[in-house]
Amino acid sequence: MPIHILPPEISSQIAAGEVVERPASVVKELLENALDAGTHSITIKVEGAGRRLIEVADDGSGIPAGELPLAVARHATSKLSSAADLFHISSLGFRGEALASIGSVARLTITSRTQEGDNGARLRVEGGHAEAIQPTGAPQGSVVRVEDLFYNVPARLKFLKSDSTERRQIDALVTRYALAYPKVRFRLFQENQLSLQTSGNGDRREVLAAIYGVKVARQMLEVLAEDEFICASGFISPITLTRSNRREITFFVNGRWVQDVTLASALLHAYQTLLMVGRYPLATLFLELPPETIDVNVHPAKAEVRFRNPDQVFSGVQRAVRRALLAYSSIPELGSGGLWSQAGSRTGAAVLTPWNNDTTAGTQQRWSDEPPLAAQASGTQASGTQASLTPSRVPLLRLVGQVATAYLVAEGPDGLYLIDQHAAHERVLFERFLAERQVIASQALLEPLAVTFPPSAARLLEEQLPILGSLGFRVEPFGPGTFLVRSVPTLLANGDPAAALRVLVEDFEEDETPLQAETEARLIARVCKRAAIKAGQALSMEEQRSLLSDLEACQSPRTCPHGRPTMILLSVDLLERQFGRKGAR
Ligand code: ADP
Ligand code: MG
Repeated sequence: MPIHILPPEISSQIAAGEVVERPASVVKELLENALDAGTHSITIKVEGAGRRLIEVADDGSGIPAGELPLAVARHATSKLSSAADLFHISSLGFRGEALASIGSVARLTITSRTQEGDNGARLRVEGGHAEAIQPTGAPQGSVVRVEDLFYNVPARLKFLKSDSTERRQIDALVTRYALAYPKVRFRLFQENQLSLQTSGNGDRREVLAAIYGVKVARQMLEVLAEDEFICASGFISPITLTRSNRREITFFVNGRWVQDVTLASALLHAYQTLLMVGRYPLATLFLELPPETIDVNVHPAKAEVRFRNPDQVFSGVQRAVRRALLAYSSIPELGSGGLWSQAGSRTGAAVLTPWNNDTTAGTQQRWSDEPPLAAQASGTQASGTQASLTPSRVPLLRLVGQVATAYLVAEGPDGLYLIDQHAAHERVLFERFLAERQVIASQALLEPLAVTFPPSAARLLEEQLPILGSLGFRVEPFGPGTFLVRSVPTLLANGDPAAALRVLVEDFEEDETPLQAETEARLIARVCKRAAIKAGQALSMEEQRSLLSDLEACQSPRTCPHGRPTMILLSVDLLERQFGRKGAR
């Protein structure tokens, strides 16, 4: 075939493919336009999972009748005039492509009226061809109707997922924008049923409640941190509230929803060792950066941005999240609901549910039904919950003794503490290890030890040798599949070096995260697990006391590096209730 220029219908369909991938992408573009138009209220109607109809109505600025044909033309925008503007973008749109793209793959109708215009006007576009403008009565703002999406691109239709999946995508999208723009009132109807509604009163926690329910919303921790480069705000889940996937992790950068793996890793990094492996937090974080430090023009759907200083952004996010977590982490408490007696039950029957590391319901066992964080920024409803807002450190404890050669018993100002000696020691070692990072003590073996691995494990090990070296392992390749262990971290000196190395290699195999720092933390956690005191090990009074004081000195004394609790509090209040000195609540 000779080279030829494509007819405009084909080239615009090709271009549309980048912007409009599925119904949710249409919703996204229309939402962004409404928000750019300064709307206070957005109503979205979806029928046939978005294939039949997507309608977005706003009360924003509207489009002057004379500009309607331009609005649907490609590369026509009111938001950008020079190339230099690209680096000072404060609107969500700027490419002037969305309406043109939608118009080339669906039947598009825009009805709009500006504040100045006496009358409204309507423009229909079908298969990329705009019809004549019709004058019509309309309230101020715009109503954009998109019917029969992909009617002229049957191949695209085949790529759509099931109705319920497409609907879920739309729900998830609108939900996120509702959170990002709490001052805008959102209403989403799917198949004539109200699916989401927010009040637009500016209260983000209220939006959270509309989305996740009051219970989850009350537990979410507020993040607010600002430095000279970045301001991070939003909500993250406490370590007791997790999901089995990363889908509930959302980032907005300057009001724009972006999907960025580095941002997500920064968040996960902050949770490192506080969550069980394979569990992920919920988070919606809003980052504000000077516009000139981000490049928003890297993706046709504007779903990605490039940062001028990615490291600053990464560490800013990580620090903000970490700080919120440390400020709010609490000791699981028996008795104030969930754990000891079922919430709401007045019988006082003791139902002790065990630690639960995987629940199909998606959230982990909650240790206390009261949100331990009392993180309401507004400071309202301090009743009771405020009292349980404990700093992340543990109070000074008086050792009572050891039970079942597994737990230490100690008295604190608020009750009785049961401490898991293994988990506690893991935490102590872990933090010591991290603190020593620069100078990890390493002990040479008297005789280098040869260890052999199967090929795939050997390859993994070989790649990770530098990290191992930084952790105090000196290991050298020694023939195919065989390695010589020359020294090990002093912490592990008493164990079996070959076994320690094998556990670490297993960990590489499980690890899917590319981040070196994450791998390191996991490795260290693994090493500490091996080196820690085991359950069943009798400890002298002196050993118990030093374990307790070491734990008190930890940064995050309440969980082991794998996220399990190190201690449980039996509060005086609970004791009184259990002994019948106080009525059951
Ligand atoms: P972009 O948003 O990148 O400018 P679009 O194709 O999405 O490109 O929209 C083209 C233009 O149409 C916008 O620049 C804006 O002037 C106008 N427009 C689109 N939707 C609306 C709306 N809901 N309210 C007011 N103006 C709108
Ligand atoms: Mg737009």
